[in-house]
Amino acid sequence: MAAHPTIRLKPKEGRRLRAGAPWAFSNEVEMSNATKALKPGAIVNVVGDDGHPLGSGYFNPNSLIAIRLLDAQPDVKFNTAFFEKKLARARDLRDALYGKPYYRLVHAEGDYLPGVTIDRFGDACVVQVTTAGMEGLLEPLLGALDKIISPSDVILRADTPSRALEGLESYVRAAKGEASRIAVEENGIRYFADLGSGQKTGWYYDQRDNRAFMASLAGGKSVLDAYCYTGGFALAAAKVGAREVVALDSSAPALALAEESAAANGVASLCKFVKADVFEEFERLGNAKEIFDIVIADPPPFVKSRKDLEPGAKAYRKLARMAAKLVAPNGLLLLASCSHNIQPDRFAQECAMGIQRADRRARLIRQAGAGADHPVHPMLPESAYLKALIYALD
Ligand code: SAH
Repeated sequence: MAAHPTIRLKPKEGRRLRAGAPWAFSNEVEMSNATKALKPGAIVNVVGDDGHPLGSGYFNPNSLIAIRLLDAQPDVKFNTAFFEKKLARARDLRDALYGKPYYRLVHAEGDYLPGVTIDRFGDACVVQVTTAGMEGLLEPLLGALDKIISPSDVILRADTPSRALEGLESYVRAAKGEASRIAVEENGIRYFADLGSGQKTGWYYDQRDNRAFMASLAGGKSVLDAYCYTGGFALAAAKVGAREVVALDSSAPALALAEESAAANGVASLCKFVKADVFEEFERLGNAKEIFDIVIADPPPFVKSRKDLEPGAKAYRKLARMAAKLVAPNGLLLLASCSHNIQPDRFAQECAMGIQRADRRARLIRQAGAGADHPVHPMLPESAYLKALIYALD
């Protein structure tokens, strides 16, 4: 057994950690000289102020979330065998959920692996490490991935902005094989994703179920997919026989992939992909009195940090108002938020006010989050970041 250095929590602190959450905040930690001397990402045991063991994990003195636990036992060795067990559990759950190996394999805390997400695209895996602790454990993690999945390509997308807060450099490299453009199979549709230079891991698996739900209502309808990225919602709707699909995004590379996917699925003639700023295009479409049976707005996060809450909330309200104006009578509107930093109630309130200001009456028919391959840690409600509200407008 390895003997990890021990970090002690302050008296009365660690309430969430004792309740089963994997985090302790920096203000909860007794900053002894020995603790101060620990390097970012150090593997540690954590004890309460009474010396009661709370588990083992990693520590970063520079991070607000100073401790992330990986196990409830002390002195656990985070070696290949440890990660093999975690990855096998994660893989078995996904394989039970989906018929094909296209899914989020690891969703950080939701899979009891804080600091890492892994998306699987058949034989290719994209690994995103966001903390110094997990960066230090990359070798056993990748060793275990090889054993459990045997991917031909493993791409490290170590380019999330939050890495800077952990004191980590930003890089993208292939740990195995190469970063290439690959096909993603989802809901019976063939999409394309660029694993090396696409956004995040190259594909947003989180909206899988919401794409399928909207597609189930899209036969014969006109659809406006705003913030379409590589065409997730747009192609799902086109494939089931939408009458026409207009899709907007500001990213030319994303739109190029969407166009390729439309052609591969035989629906290119139904789809129009337009490079535009969504607010500007909504304004133009509104002035032109254009309407669509289904409007989808799945923007980038408007509330990037807590201090952005008020301006971000206002932006969601404005988007809801402008989107609602473009919905045909008896049409549908999907409004989504992927901001961790706005709570579901507040988001719903802003959407409701926006729709009201557009002078539209609505019924909220579905409140959804991410798919089941994005599990939520029961003690960390904030790991449920995606909110999707679907309204039927009069
Ligand atoms: N709905 C997509 C995911 C959207 S991610 C899917 O199902 O996969 C958010 C998208 O918004 C990104 O593709 C980004 O390029 C785009 N974006 C960001 N700011 C934008 C803006 N001002 N106007 C249009 N698109 C924007």
